[in-house]
This record gives sequence, C-alpha cells and structure tokens, in this order.
Amino acid sequence: MQIESLTIASVKAGLLARHFSATELAAEALRFAEAGNPKTNAYLLLNPERALANARRVDERIARGEDPGALAGVPLAVKDVIVTKGVRTTCGSHLLEHYIPPYDATAITRIEAAGGVILGKTNCDEFAMGSSNENSAFGPVRNPVALDRVPGGSSGGSAAAVAQRTAVVALGSDTGGSIRQPASFCGVVGVTPTYGRVSRYGLTAFASSLDHIGPFARTVRDAATVLGIIAGRDPCDATSAEAPVPDYTALLDGNVKGLKLGLPREYLKDLTSETGDLILRGVDALKRLGCEVREISLPATDYAIACYYIIATAEASSNLARYDGVRYTFRSANSVTLADMYRRTRGDGFGAECKRRIMLGTYVLSAGYYDAYYLKAQKVRALIARDFSNAFQEVDAIVAPVSPFPAFKLGEKVDDPVAMYLSDIYTITGSLAGIPCMSVPCGATRDGLPVGMQILTRHFDETTMFRLADAFEHTQSN
Ligand code: GLN
Repeated sequence: MQIESLTIASVKAGLLARHFSATELAAEALRFAEAGNPKTNAYLLLNPERALANARRVDERIARGEDPGALAGVPLAVKDVIVTKGVRTTCGSHLLEHYIPPYDATAITRIEAAGGVILGKTNCDEFAMGSSNENSAFGPVRNPVALDRVPGGSSGGSAAAVAQRTAVVALGSDTGGSIRQPASFCGVVGVTPTYGRVSRYGLTAFASSLDHIGPFARTVRDAATVLGIIAGRDPCDATSAEAPVPDYTALLDGNVKGLKLGLPREYLKDLTSETGDLILRGVDALKRLGCEVREISLPATDYAIACYYIIATAEASSNLARYDGVRYTFRSANSVTLADMYRRTRGDGFGAECKRRIMLGTYVLSAGYYDAYYLKAQKVRALIARDFSNAFQEVDAIVAPVSPFPAFKLGEKVDDPVAMYLSDIYTITGSLAGIPCMSVPCGATRDGLPVGMQILTRHFDETTMFRLADAFEHTQSN
C-alpha cells in the first residue's frame, strides 16, 4: 500500500479487495506518522490503542460481510481542541496538558461509527487563537512544503498532517479562518461549513458564535465525504441545524456551466502579488468551465478585522473563565488565598496570546465600554452578513483569496500581533456571516509556496461550493 497516495475511495477499494486489512493499514500509518513527526511537530499525540481498536472493528465488519462504513479504515487526525474520551486533549495549552476528557465530541462519534481510524491529535495554536501555529504551548508546527515556514493556524497540525500525507483526512476548527488559511498555506483542501451544520458538542469553546468543526483533505471529494458524515442535527448542541444533509459526493458531476460567480472588489484591490495573479488565473479557469464572472462589492469588509477581534475576544474572555485551577487539571502551587490561586493559575497557565485576548475581551464587555465596542461590533457584524446576502441575490458563489500572502517564515510576525490579525482579512468575513467557505489549492508561487482560492456560498449551500471546487480541482490536475 502507498500511504502517501491514499484517498477515502482507494482505502475502501483496497480493503474490500483484501489487498490489506484495516489493522495493517493503521499500523503502517502510525509508523509513517511517527517517523515523519519530528520534521513538522504536526501531532501532539499518536494513539495506537484507539487507532488499532478502530481498525479491528472495521476488519470484523468486513469479515462478517457487513458494510464497513463510508470512512472504513481511513487514517485520520484530529485537532487537539476536539475532545476524545480517555485520550488527552490539550488545546495546545499548558493549562490542559494532562486533561483527559470523559466524553467524545459528536464529530468523533460519527467518524468512528463510519469506520474512521483516529491516529492521534494534532498541534494547534493555544485554544485555537492564532494564524501561524506559533502560539502552541508545545512548540510550533513546521510547514511540510517549506520547513522554515509556518503551516498557518490555528489548525496548523491538521493541515500539515494531510499535506505531509501522514493522514488521509483531518478535522480542524475554524473561528475566523483556522481551517481555510492553513489549508491554503499547506496546499490542501480545507472546509468551513455553514455555522450550525456540524455539532460543536465536544469542540472546546473559543468564540461560540463563530466556532465550526470542518475537514481537511487532499481532494474536494474526500472533504465532501467527511463533511457528509459529521454534519447534521445533534441534540447535544442546540445551535446545530435541522437542515437535511445532501449526499454531497453524489452531486459532484463536474458541470458548473452557467453558475454566476462574484469577485469582490474589496478583496482584490490590494492584491497585486503572485497570490493575486494565481487567484485571477483560477478565475479564468472557472470562466473556461462556463461560469459567468462579475465584480461585486462587499463594502463593510474594511471593518471586519476590528469587528471580529472585538466579538471573538469578548466571547473568548467569557469561555476561558472556566480555567480557574479548580475544574481543569492545572493549578499553580503555593497560593495562599483563593484569589491568589486563580491569579497564579491563569497567569502561569495561559500563554501571551490568550492573556492578550482575555484582557481585550474583558475590556470591550466592561460596563462603560460595552455599547461603544461590543454592541457596535454586533451591528457591524450584521452589516457584513447583509453584504453577503445582497451579493447572493446576484451570484451563486463568491470567489476570493484566502490570505493576502503565502506561508510566511517562522518568527516573522510573532512579535507583531496586529500584523498577525491583519492576515485574517479575507477569512473572517465569511466566519462572521456564518456562511460556508473553503480553500481549494490554486497553484504555487515561484518559490513553490501553495496558494488557496476561497469559495463562499449561501447558508447551507455547501453543495454549490463543493461542485465548483471539484470542477476547479480537475482543471488544476490536468
Ligand atoms: N486567526 C484567527 C484568530 O486568531 C482565527 C482563529 C480561528 O479561526 N480559530 O482568531
């Protein structure tokens, strides 16, 4: 078996033809991941017991002549903000270094029911806050395409695992771009579904009104398969949607003729770089497939960074209040009073970026400033969402860059949080509006750095997004 070139379909075909068993594949995948990890630091933990138990179940189903499931035997990786029962889940933080969750996230339960083999947990920015994976308490991840560069963040480990081919698919989480941006930087497919499409039960909360779980894969078809499995109403998450989940892969017919695409003026005005050229080349390929392209305007884009970094930090300051030294493992020693214990635990446990966000979030929520900042940001969020609904009156999908630039060097932006925040400009708008958006590879710069093209569609219309991305992907490989 060629671990590097496996897809969901080829794993299943290999299993059914008895070329290999799920157990053999899992053992080989674990070996391959372990051997590759010192290079990238993509995994924080590999879990042979669970992976092999998953694999044995698949082999038993096959032996009994049962359908082994849509993800039968597929080696996959999970971002370490998604909880796994009995398996350490750190969120990239010292605070949770020894935390063993007592339950599985719904996405995990569904993946395993479909026969998926979870190899381990991937590195990420602490509590998913960051755009470079340099905020992890357990060291940065290196981009497998260029080891002196960041893989993007915050789901850098999941993107790197798929790019390094140690996992066929991976789960990440996206609050303001953390799936799409690392997918773009590592040259893989990354999908942020509609808000509410996938249950957040078991996803450690960062900014609850913006958090999503979504897949990484090397092909659009594989990403669509995974989303089809994890999507759908879950009684454990009241914000998960009742909307029926289509059979995404059955709808990938390559025909996108006549689809109307919008190119947002505001996203292209500063893009004169190689990234811009690659996006425009991608748009030309879509035109050749018969899509109609027109320029559109999303005028509230200029306020998106400010709006996101108020709402996300406000929600984070509240969500992170639970790490108080009482309920979750880490507690700083030698405190005399309760207040002292809180202060030391949080002071020693959180990294600099989390502290920055807790302070900012607490500030914008405080009595004298709530209206001026938090309330104003909520109004701006409504304007951003309205821009998209207006655009979708005219077009079926929006095509845009994912990031203003390709993967930057490790250390390049780490001392300048504002520069880091600005790199999220093209991804946070879709997150604020809660619409589906994804990154699909659209070539590489002269230095060989991957660039992703972003596709955004109406709420719950992942189908159009996947159809476009799949048709586009085929123009790239030919
Ligand atoms: N880079 C953004 C941030 O730091 C997005 C993070 C995310 O999507 N989890 O908040």
